[in-house]
Amino acid sequence: MLTEHEILNIAKSIIKKTKLKIKVKFLAYEKFLEEANKSPLIKKVLEEGNDFYDLNVPSIFSHKKDTIYFNKKILTKLLHDEPFSLQKRFIASITHHEIFHFLNKNKMKDLSLKSALKSEKRSERDFKKYFPSLAILGKTITKKNTDF
Ligand SMILES: [Zn+2]
Repeated sequence: MLTEHEILNIAKSIIKKTKLKIKVKFLAYEKFLEEANKSPLIKKVLEEGNDFYDLNVPSIFSHKKDTIYFNKKILTKLLHDEPFSLQKRFIASITHHEIFHFLNKNKMKDLSLKSALKSEKRSERDFKKYFPSLAILGKTITKKNTDF
């Protein structure tokens, strides 16, 4: 499994090329869950009775802090059996996905569930348009581990 340091280096080098002011860091599981709960979309899914660990959310973007958060426990769950080359591509995939959230930020009207869903759709669509193979890879890995 890639180390946290290696994962951060992959994400940072991608962000650097975009010249955007986005930070990236790891959060311990409890803090990560706390951050996830700030997303109206994840909050809703959790309210439906799902366990956060089963949702396979490997990264979260904080609109307030312009920061991408990763969690080692979830990333390890998703990637530990995969070759390093694929692990690296997956990190690139989720980093790009979160960058699109940043780019689409000003299109978000409010913090409602509806806006969050729209933002998710918009980011996914842009991601697929510009990075089709990375977008598919991201989906494949998370889907393989979940069934919703
Ligand atoms: Zn997203």
